[in-house]
Amino acid sequence: MSTSLLNKLVPHGVSLDSVGAGRQQITRSDVAAALGFKGLSKPASYFGLAKYCDDNAAASKLTEYLESYIEHCASRENWSQGLKSANGLAQLMMLEGVYGVTCKKCKGVGSVITSRNYAFSTEECGRCRGTGAMVLSGRQRASIAEISPSSWERHWKSRLDFLLQHIYELEDQLHTHLKRQFN
Ligand SMILES: [Zn+2]
Repeated sequence: MSTSLLNKLVPHGVSLDSVGAGRQQITRSDVAAALGFKGLSKPASYFGLAKYCDDNAAASKLTEYLESYIEHCASRENWSQGLKSANGLAQLMMLEGVYGVTCKKCKGVGSVITSRNYAFSTEECGRCRGTGAMVLSGRQRASIAEISPSSWERHWKSRLDFLLQHIYELEDQLHTHLKRQFN
């Protein structure tokens, strides 16, 4: 995916470089229209609608799809330990893989305003190191996935990485598709 497209395409269609840069912004309706074209898998279009168009119906369809994907992997790989239902794990995948967890200190901006002797300046946010994203602790992940912390550490930590790969594949599919539509 080209950098210029990535810059234009941020969650909910609000471009960070749209102010002053004079560059055209891709809006959520542009994304929604592009997702209507053929050639994109259903899950990848749900991903795009949920992430960039604030579409709740698509988000719940994607969650359902992830649940069945988790169940499929769990039966294929014999992942039975501590998994009561796939729903919590699917919610965690939505949070980490689709929406991202926003840093509370800088509210996702990546920088904070500081003042020294009445002079204001912006500094890189120390909590998220400028990424704007927060990393969940193992305990938080286990709690969202409704899996015990010990089972999480022993079994599910690495499985989550494996499962998230699938979301990144959907994201790649979507980006390739949008690039074809907009470039
Ligand atoms: Zn931050």
